[in-house]
Amino acid sequence: MAFAKRIAVRRSPRHKPSQPAGSSDARAAALEAPTGHERRLAAALLAWFAAARRTLPWRETYDPYAVWIAEIMLQQTQVDTALPYYRRWMERFPSVAAVADAPLESVLKAWEGLGYYSRARNLHRAAHALVESHGGRIPGGLDALRALPGIGAYSAGAIASIAFNQPVPLVDGNVSRILSRLLALDCDVRQPQGRALVWSAAERLVSGALHSGGQPRDCNEALMELGALVCRPRAPQCLLCPWQADCRARQLGDPEAFPRRPVRKARPVRRGVMLLAQCPAQPSGPAWLVRRRPPRGVWGGLWEFPWVERQADEESAAALCAALLAEAGEPAAGEPATPLGHISHGLTHFQLELDCLLLVLPGARSTSAEPGHPLRWATSGDLAALPLARLSHKALALLSRHRNGAPADASAQGWNLGKRLPTG
Ligand code: SF4
Repeated sequence: MAFAKRIAVRRSPRHKPSQPAGSSDARAAALEAPTGHERRLAAALLAWFAAARRTLPWRETYDPYAVWIAEIMLQQTQVDTALPYYRRWMERFPSVAAVADAPLESVLKAWEGLGYYSRARNLHRAAHALVESHGGRIPGGLDALRALPGIGAYSAGAIASIAFNQPVPLVDGNVSRILSRLLALDCDVRQPQGRALVWSAAERLVSGALHSGGQPRDCNEALMELGALVCRPRAPQCLLCPWQADCRARQLGDPEAFPRRPVRKARPVRRGVMLLAQCPAQPSGPAWLVRRRPPRGVWGGLWEFPWVERQADEESAAALCAALLAEAGEPAAGEPATPLGHISHGLTHFQLELDCLLLVLPGARSTSAEPGHPLRWATSGDLAALPLARLSHKALALLSRHRNGAPADASAQGWNLGKRLPTG
């Protein structure tokens, strides 16, 4: 029976990959024997991988700690972007214990710029759990892995198969895309039915690899590598693909039509103002007003220049700046704010558009750097040491342009920028 038909016929939408407890041999025995077609697909994939695989640091030893860090970094992030972060991380935190011993702020600083900061917060929590329950070692079992913060089905499959060579499948965005094309799946692979079909297909390939004399880790890494190098989201390189003769999407003439996606709604736009308030006469030198974000949510635990969203009926940036200063316990200034420019930032569920204003506050100001207080004054040295949210790096780039004499960006449409801040 052909691969696609077998997957569709034998697997119910609720199918989950086989995950028996016990040894690697027990797991292998629990896998359904592959058909000849599945073996051939797996063998072709493994042969392609043997020739095309990139040399990557975590592939040198398959050390579980290295694989764990790499797999978490590679979620939502391309290999080329993640590599320098990975190298710096392994120097700064060479072991699970080193992560657990570090303050969260150091972990966030090492992650600064990679985005999706819940990954870093979960790594920190998981390191504590590993030290407390596993003697600082990474477990090889799927259940033990999934009990750790930040480790879902994909990460558990990646660590179990790549670090421990367990015969378990894994499915990430790359794998979903390739298999939806290979099988021309006419359903949304992010929904339960489509997801079950893809997981089932990935499991069949692991079984095919085992029966072809291959290794589970090579099969899974080969799938991800094929997605990164050949079966890319745009313009897949089908002529280089080991499955070009079997791929149904290619036979249909439009591989990019897969995976099927529902029409996306436009993201709502939210607007606001960010304030770069500088006080030249702080006791430790010129300093900037920054605040720490709440521990959870977007940029959780990172520092930023304060910003507020604009409500529909607000037109005055000056009034919002005054509100931010009041929050910091600062009297409002009589100086006009200088428009620095505009920041656009896309998040998963909305688009953020911020106008960025510079305000120099005269005189010495009280500091609000009490422990745990979300607002504080930060010198340039402090700014370099604190984990800063991406928005604030964009604001610093605008400030640098301004100081280099670039004309102020007049894109702060709709704001009443000419008004002075009301005097306190
Ligand atoms: Fe992807 Fe093309 Fe290979 Fe099909 S033949 S799996 S579309 S690269």
